[in-house]
Amino acid sequence: MKTVRILLILFLSLNLSASLRYDAEEGMYPLSEIQKLNLQQAGLQIGINDIYNPNGVSLIDALVKINGCTGSFVSDKGLMITNHHCAFGAISNVSTPEKNYLENGFLAESFEEEIPAKNYVVRITESYEDVTAEILKSVEGIEDLSERNKAISKKMREIAKSAEDEANSIVAEVSEMFAGESYVLFKYRIIKDVRLVYAPPRSIGEFGGEADNWIWPRHTGDFTFMRAYVAPDGSAAEYSEENIPYSPKKYLKVNPNGVDEGDFVFILGYPGRTFRHNPSQFLEYQENFNLPYTEQLYSYMIGIYESISEGNEELQIKYSSRIKSLANVMKNYRGKMLGLRRLNLVEKKQSEEKILAEFINSDENLKKKFGTLFKDIEEVYQKRFDIAEADLWFSRFFRFSDLVSLADFLLEYSNQKELINSERKSAFKEDKIEETLDRMKKKYEDLNYDFEDEFIYKMLYDTETFSETSTIKAVKARVNGTNFEEELSNYIEELLSTEIGNPDFFNKALDLSYDEISDLNDPLIDFVVELKKQKEEIEKLESNISGTLQVLMPKLAEVKKLKNKTTFTPDANSTLRLTYGFIKGYEPADAVFYKPITTLDGIIEKSFMGGEYAVPDKLKTAYQQKDFGRFYDEKAGGVPVAILYNTDTTGGNSGSPILNAKGELIGVNFDRAFEATINDFAWDDAYSRSIGVDIRYVLWVAKTIGNADNVLNELGVK
Ligand code: GLU
Repeated sequence: MKTVRILLILFLSLNLSASLRYDAEEGMYPLSEIQKLNLQQAGLQIGINDIYNPNGVSLIDALVKINGCTGSFVSDKGLMITNHHCAFGAISNVSTPEKNYLENGFLAESFEEEIPAKNYVVRITESYEDVTAEILKSVEGIEDLSERNKAISKKMREIAKSAEDEANSIVAEVSEMFAGESYVLFKYRIIKDVRLVYAPPRSIGEFGGEADNWIWPRHTGDFTFMRAYVAPDGSAAEYSEENIPYSPKKYLKVNPNGVDEGDFVFILGYPGRTFRHNPSQFLEYQENFNLPYTEQLYSYMIGIYESISEGNEELQIKYSSRIKSLANVMKNYRGKMLGLRRLNLVEKKQSEEKILAEFINSDENLKKKFGTLFKDIEEVYQKRFDIAEADLWFSRFFRFSDLVSLADFLLEYSNQKELINSERKSAFKEDKIEETLDRMKKKYEDLNYDFEDEFIYKMLYDTETFSETSTIKAVKARVNGTNFEEELSNYIEELLSTEIGNPDFFNKALDLSYDEISDLNDPLIDFVVELKKQKEEIEKLESNISGTLQVLMPKLAEVKKLKNKTTFTPDANSTLRLTYGFIKGYEPADAVFYKPITTLDGIIEKSFMGGEYAVPDKLKTAYQQKDFGRFYDEKAGGVPVAILYNTDTTGGNSGSPILNAKGELIGVNFDRAFEATINDFAWDDAYSRSIGVDIRYVLWVAKTIGNADNVLNELGVK
C-alpha cells in the first residue's frame, strides 16, 4: 500500500514537473527585460550576456531586420538566412518566364552570380536608450489631445533625426513601448546592398501554398539565403560591383543535429505589432469592423487579380506577390475572427474591466483619479465606431486604386511644394521627394484598367450599406437614384475616362498649382478632390481619438498594475525581442492531438494531391532512393521538416532564428498555427503555437535539391 502511494506521488510529481517544464510564458521581452527572466531554469545553457551584451559582442549582433521580416547572419561573409516568403518579392522581381527563379529556385555558385534584391534593406540594432522624460516633457501643458498626439510624434521624429549618423551608416527611430507612457530611442546600422544566394523552388519554399498557410501540420521549406554587402570602406552603399560582403560582429553557429520534442528553444526577432493591452472596445472594433471588412475586401481583390491574369503568365508573375500578401492577411483575419468568437474574448475582457471598475469604486482616492476612466474609454471608442466604415473604406480605396492614389498624390504635391521644407509632410521633404516621385511613377508599370474598373465598382458599391455616420458624401452626391447599379456603372465609365492614367499628363500636371489641377475638370480628379475633404476630416477625428487614448491608456495600465500587482511586457512594436518556449504539440480541437515535428514522409503523402502540394521530381527521387545523408532522424522516423513550439511570436518574426539551449541555430520561424493567429490579441499556452522550418530540412534541401554545396561549406556543415 505504502509503495503504491509513493509511486503515485512520484508519478504525480514527475508529471507536474514535466508539464511545468514545457509551459512557456507569454511575452516578447525587450532586451532591457531579459535579465529578469529565469531562462537558465527553463533550460538555457549559456549566459544572458551571451544573448545580449551592451558592452561586447553577443547573439543579437547576428540578428537583422530585413524589410518587414527578421533574419540572421550565418557566416562571417554576411550570409543571412531568412524565409522564402520574405525574399519572395526579390525572387519574383528578377524572375521572367524564361528564367523563372520563383518556380525553379535560384543558386549563385559564386559571389559574382548573386543577384541584387532591389529595395531590400537590412538593419542591425546597435543600441537603445530610454527617452520617455524628454518626450513627455515636450508635451506638458498641451491641452488639445489631437495636438498633443501630433507633438509626441513630432518629438519622436526630432530625437530620432538628431541621433542619426549618416557617415557611420546609423539610422535611428524612437519607438513607443507603452502608449502615452514610455519611449525608447533605437539606433540601427543600415545595409543597403542585399543579394540573393540560394532560394529553393517555390514548390518547396511555399509547399502547401494558401491551403497550408497558417496551418499545422506543415511541410513548407520556407527559407532563403541572402547576403549583405557594404562599400569597401564598410559603409552602407546601394548596389555596386565594388561592394564587398559585410563582415558581421557575430554570426550564428548552425547545429545540423536539430531538436527533439520537449527541447528548450528561444527566438530573437523583430515582432511587428500585438494589441494585448487594449480595452475590450478595441476587440469589438476588430470583431465588428476591421476584421470582417478587410477579410471580404481582400478576398474580392484576389478574385479580381486572378481573373485578370488568367492565361497570362507575365501577369501571373507580376501579381503573385500581391495576391500572396492579400491572401496571407485574409486567412490570418479569418483565424482571428474565429478565435475571438471561440474564446469569447470581448466578454472576457469586459469581465476583467468590470472587476477593475469595482476595484476603483472601492477606494475614494482611486475613484477620484480613475472614476470616469471606463466611461471615457467607451465614449472615445463610440466615436471610432461611428466613423469606422468610412475610415476603413478611405484607407483601402486610396491605397489600392492606382488611379485614385495618383490623383491624390498630384493634389497633395501641388499643395506641399508651396510650403517651406520644414513644414512639408515627410514624403514631400527635399531629401525624400525624388524617392516619392519615383515610387509614384512606378505605379504606371502596374496600372491595369481592368483591375481599376472592377475595384472602383466594388468600393463604390459597398458604400451603399454604410451607416449614416459613415456615409461617403462624394459617392452619395453622385450615385443616389433608384437605379443604383446602372448609375454606378455609368459613373465608373465616366471616372475611367480620366487623363490621370497617362504618364505624360501626370508629368505635366506636376508643374500645376492646386487650382489649375482642379480647373482641368477631370472626372476622377474632381471626385478625389471631394473625397479628400471628408478623408481629412476623418483623419482629424482619428488623430483626436488616438490622442485621447494616449492619455487614457497609461491610466488603464496603472489601474491594472495596482490591482494585479504585476508589471507587463510591452506589446510588440517592431523592435528587437526575445521569446522562449519548448518544442511542443497541442490539441487544437475536440479529440485532436498534433505532434510537434513533421517529416519528409508527410511531404510525399501530401504530394499525391498535386496542385499546391506538387513537388519537384528530384525530391521524390531522393526520397525513393533514401538519399537522406546525415539528416535522417531516428526518433522522428525521417528527415524532419517543420517544428512546432509554444513561443510568443507574430508577423515580423518571419525569418527569426530558432535557437537551442546553447544559442545554436536549429530552425527558422515562419508562421503560426491557425488557432494562434488570435494571440496578437491574447496569448495562451493552450493554443499559441509557432511554426518553423527545421534546420535539417533546410540543409537537406540546399544540398540534395539545390546542389548548394558552396552554401553548406560556408555554414561549416559537412
Ligand atoms: N507567416 C506569418 C506572416 O506571413 C509570419 C509569422 C507570424 O505571423 O507568426 O505574416
